[in-house]
Amino acid sequence: MKIAFLGLGAIGAPMASHLARSPFELTVWNRTGAKADAFAREHGVRAAASPAEAVRGVEVILTCLPSSREVESILDGDDGMQAGIESGAMLIDCTSGDPATSRRIANRLQQRNIDFVDAPVSGGVKGAVNGTLTVMCGGSQSAVDRAKPVLQAFGSKIIRCGDVGAGDAVKAMNQALLAIHIWSAGEALAALAKLGVDASVALEVINGSSGRSNTSENLFPERVLGRKYPRTFKLALLDKDVGIAKQIVDESGMDSPFIELAAKLFTEAHADLGEEADHVEAVRVIEKRAGVRVS
Ligand code: NDP
Repeated sequence: MKIAFLGLGAIGAPMASHLARSPFELTVWNRTGAKADAFAREHGVRAAASPAEAVRGVEVILTCLPSSREVESILDGDDGMQAGIESGAMLIDCTSGDPATSRRIANRLQQRNIDFVDAPVSGGVKGAVNGTLTVMCGGSQSAVDRAKPVLQAFGSKIIRCGDVGAGDAVKAMNQALLAIHIWSAGEALAALAKLGVDASVALEVINGSSGRSNTSENLFPERVLGRKYPRTFKLALLDKDVGIAKQIVDESGMDSPFIELAAKLFTEAHADLGEEADHVEAVRVIEKRAGVRVS
């Protein structure tokens, strides 16, 4: 089966590398063409010069771009996916997108008999390299069933969350929880540092107690204690994700002070640290505000 993967970023590239090793016949496209050419040379697959060329004659197309906005933007124009995509194909969008735009894209494609599944992933670059990502899908049961054999190349847990947009919504809420864990753990360690408690001691206690999380067990020991922030997942993208979560709760009309505050804090941290900072570097903003170094 012919497949295409568009968007060879920090997580897209390791996901696509599993597909390159699968029995599928893979074509890749990336906005910066040099990256697609290098990937194609390394993995012995084809690089396309445009989204239209990448998807022509292809049965299953995967996208992994910063947000739904970029996915929608590469649909249009002479070189866009719509110019090459064929009736009966399917688009699996692995972007952490927003439900409303995913539904709009799905409606546009449905008119041409093209299935759409939103399929954002979780597990980080490490999970993508190891092929152990969790994939949360939104789409009809039959579309998700059709997407599964492709998603299994890089995902070990593939879950249908509901109709189109449901995968995006679950992902956004997961990200809001991640943001809240990072900020609350950062504040806790900053307050303890002011009392003279070493961060490694505090984490040893917390990780044997009920306040622990993936953030305290993995992210903080790896990044905050060593003050090394590898740029695996940009703070800018987490800001975008928590913004989607805020949009979802705002539209539901419910009061959600935690998510509202997380969205505000991560937008401020993003503005403070810029486009290239890693998500865990938000702790540096907490340190600056508290006037203390956590470790
Ligand atoms: P990166 O910033 O590393 O890569 C972004 C990709 O999108 C690049 O291929 C980039 O191309 C391309 N791109 C950016 N803008 C445009 C545009 N206007 N038109 C076409 N292509 C564009 O992001 P990640 O790979 O980290 O993230 C991708 C998605 O996966 C995001 O939605 C993110 O939230 C999600 N995600 C990321 C995780 C991670 O650990 N990194 C974990 C889970 C989900 P170019 O090379 O030209 O810049």
